[in-house]
Amino acid sequence: MPELPEVETVRRTLAPLLTGRQILSVSALRPEVIHHPLPVDFCARLAGCRIEGLMRRGKFLLLRLVSAAGGQLLVVHLRMTGRLLCTPATYPQKPHTHVIFHLDQNMELRFSDTRRFGGLWLLADGETDTCTGMQKLGVEPLSAELCAGFLQQRLGRRRSTIKSGLLDQSVIAGLGNIYADETLYRAQIHPQQPCCTLQEKEWQALAGAIPEVLQAAIANNGTTFHDFLDGEGREGQNMPFLQAYGRAGEPCRRCGAQMVKIRLQGRGTCFCPNCQRLHSVEGIEEER
Ligand SMILES: [Zn+2]
Repeated sequence: MPELPEVETVRRTLAPLLTGRQILSVSALRPEVIHHPLPVDFCARLAGCRIEGLMRRGKFLLLRLVSAAGGQLLVVHLRMTGRLLCTPATYPQKPHTHVIFHLDQNMELRFSDTRRFGGLWLLADGETDTCTGMQKLGVEPLSAELCAGFLQQRLGRRRSTIKSGLLDQSVIAGLGNIYADETLYRAQIHPQQPCCTLQEKEWQALAGAIPEVLQAAIANNGTTFHDFLDGEGREGQNMPFLQAYGRAGEPCRRCGAQMVKIRLQGRGTCFCPNCQRLHSVEGIEEER
């Protein structure tokens, strides 16, 4: 599943290809992936728009559009298997291509999605966003807002596990299963440690580890685990650099102990039982 580094990689590869391009028309082959407005209006409102730039919010990709009618934002979420590919119009169409944006200079932007959990939205400037879910997102993990104090304030009283806290999109936008495991490994914190038992130095370690892990993955163009491809159809190169995720049974790269995998709220969770020890949870009672 694409997480923040993969979406950022798509943004970075598409930005130079799409910025300044004009959308001539839109073909909705599978209109059900268009969530807002009605597909017929979605296509009509995009025709003639110029793409001014690409942005990202959490795992959402945002295309800034302008036309004589005003500004709009095209919002894309890739979910599990969504892809955005910019290609010459003459290239053969891949299976599961659901929406095609016909661009000038004989180019096309194609949205494909084998499992069809991804989606597209179009918001006019000034329109209140009640449909994408972006309005509920927490801080951007690469922004200065993410610091030890913020994490402690938002998560510090929870009795749930720190892994579930890191995955809560209303606290931190864009962290998913892979990079939550990587962050906890780097910060040397057990994934099942209850949030309310983390100490000051552990919040600091997390605040440092989150951007480090994400920046390193972005530098490697994201992780291709199942079928992630960037905006030009290339795989990410971060897989060999993962320290925790997918390494159950392998030796820990820090201490040599065998990495283990557990299931936590239905998610596979890899960690080093030696470097990431569950520390005492005594004291919870007293603190409450
Ligand atoms: Zn270890």
